[in-house]
Amino acid sequence: MSEEPIGRIVIVGGGTAGWMAAAALSRYFGTADRRVTLIESDAIGTVGVGEATIPPIRTFNAKLEIPEDEFLRATNGTFKLGIEFVNWGQIGDRYFHPFGFYGQEFHGIAFHQLWLSERERGGGGKIDDYAMSAVAAAERRFARPEPGIQSPLAHLQYAFHFDASLYARYLRKRAEAQGVERCEGKIVKVHRNSESGDVDSVQLENGERISGDIFLDCSGFRGLLIEEALGAGYEDWSHWLPMDSALAMPTANAGSPDPFTRSTAHSAGWQWRIPLQHRTGNGHVFCSEYMSQEEADRLLKENLGGEILSEPRLLRFKTGMRKKAWSHNVVSLGLSSGFLEPLESTSIHLIQNGIAKFISLFPDRSISPVERDEYNRIMRASYEDIRDFIILHYKATQRDDSEFWRYVRDMDIPETLKRKFDLWRLHGRIFRDQAELFATPSWVAVMIGQNIWPGGHDPIVASLNSNEVAATLRHIANAYSQTAKQLPTQEEYLRRTGAWSNA
Ligand code: FAD
Repeated sequence: MSEEPIGRIVIVGGGTAGWMAAAALSRYFGTADRRVTLIESDAIGTVGVGEATIPPIRTFNAKLEIPEDEFLRATNGTFKLGIEFVNWGQIGDRYFHPFGFYGQEFHGIAFHQLWLSERERGGGGKIDDYAMSAVAAAERRFARPEPGIQSPLAHLQYAFHFDASLYARYLRKRAEAQGVERCEGKIVKVHRNSESGDVDSVQLENGERISGDIFLDCSGFRGLLIEEALGAGYEDWSHWLPMDSALAMPTANAGSPDPFTRSTAHSAGWQWRIPLQHRTGNGHVFCSEYMSQEEADRLLKENLGGEILSEPRLLRFKTGMRKKAWSHNVVSLGLSSGFLEPLESTSIHLIQNGIAKFISLFPDRSISPVERDEYNRIMRASYEDIRDFIILHYKATQRDDSEFWRYVRDMDIPETLKRKFDLWRLHGRIFRDQAELFATPSWVAVMIGQNIWPGGHDPIVASLNSNEVAATLRHIANAYSQTAKQLPTQEEYLRRTGAWSNA
């Protein structure tokens, strides 16, 4: 078996996926003997949405040694403490899915079990009172935890909202400084090796051919290499997640941007609200089988908080994933590898995860099926775990006001999710599989937020002194509440730290 190293990496596409990959690969693999080339076409452009993230993005940025305040300034970014869900369980309901965790374990027993038992005794307040990120979000306030300082603020977890095209531009600058060659041009042909079937080169409109040992397909929904050239196949999940369209439009900010995303359910979909420094991103994700574009447009515009800055843009998609994310010498990343609606802001995370796993399984030129298969196994598990968590939001509804909600409420769900529901319904237990992205607090937030109550709490709680439990709960809620009230607003904080862009 050849152990010749990969000499040339070719990245096809310069959207969020392409430039994230370029910045990361040039950081780890950009040596004098290895070239990283990125091809993109200004004429085709990027999808241009994708503005909300989850906390692991901070690890990605940190690995690239990106200074957080500089990054926020460059992308008009803001902090995000979680997602506020409106009208999901029933019309009029409102709950928060915070980053981080609730309270603290007590003698190894999950905190939500203590809260459930206290609730049975008529106390406990709201579960939100016990998550630092939720309490700060309710006050619309934010400050970073200070490293090394033990205080309730140390329990606050955050991610970012940012302008996706500015993020790509920022990463491009870093990637080019690390030696990435950018090639502008439209790929019109893909040349494959007649024996191995691998991709040898891609051909631009001007006739230039760019060859590579391995290709990262970041070409967006079409999957120029992975699907159009290699026919990897697509697994369609739209029977579980039937959303297939989105209208996206920006509005002006009215006041300090809230440090959270809002998701408001409508009759056949939901509307996002993502506050950045200079504007608010809005969009209506809907299912065209149950709602016309005109109706989606009307609902979106009726529920905006600020002046419209431009008319909505329509995007179409199909939920699912590529049957093989890595086929031959092509690794798909971003929209070319699959799509899960942005309800829990997971797409950029899947790009980051794909890049990290590719780096850990970086092959030789011969490309062993062992590494390729492992990559495909890991990425499938990541997609499926997130898919189940998103389906939960639809299945766990009591809404009966439209054909759409009746369909999702009554639909069959994957066996993996059914198991989670069954365990929860008995004694409120959640078990997280090894590499699952969403931990117990996330499942608890959505189950309780959407009124799915367990039959009872874990019987092990009976071994605890209930007065002690009640006192601990009161202490945590007071500490979080007092801490949150003293925090600055998001805008004050961004200005104070020099992260406000003045754009
Ligand atoms: P694209 O942005 O489409 O980029 C494709 C690139 O390929 C472009 O540079 C294009 O020029 C190039 N290209 C294509 N064909 C050719 C060719 N023939 N020759 C040369 N170049 C070519 N994710 C989140 O994490 N959070 C969110 O809040 C979120 N919201 C979303 C909302 C909606 C409605 C949608 C649809 C997606 C959302 N996403 C979100 C997903 C996120 O937008 C994408 O994961 C991210 O933008 C990555 O896109 P991409 O780089 O894969 O593709």
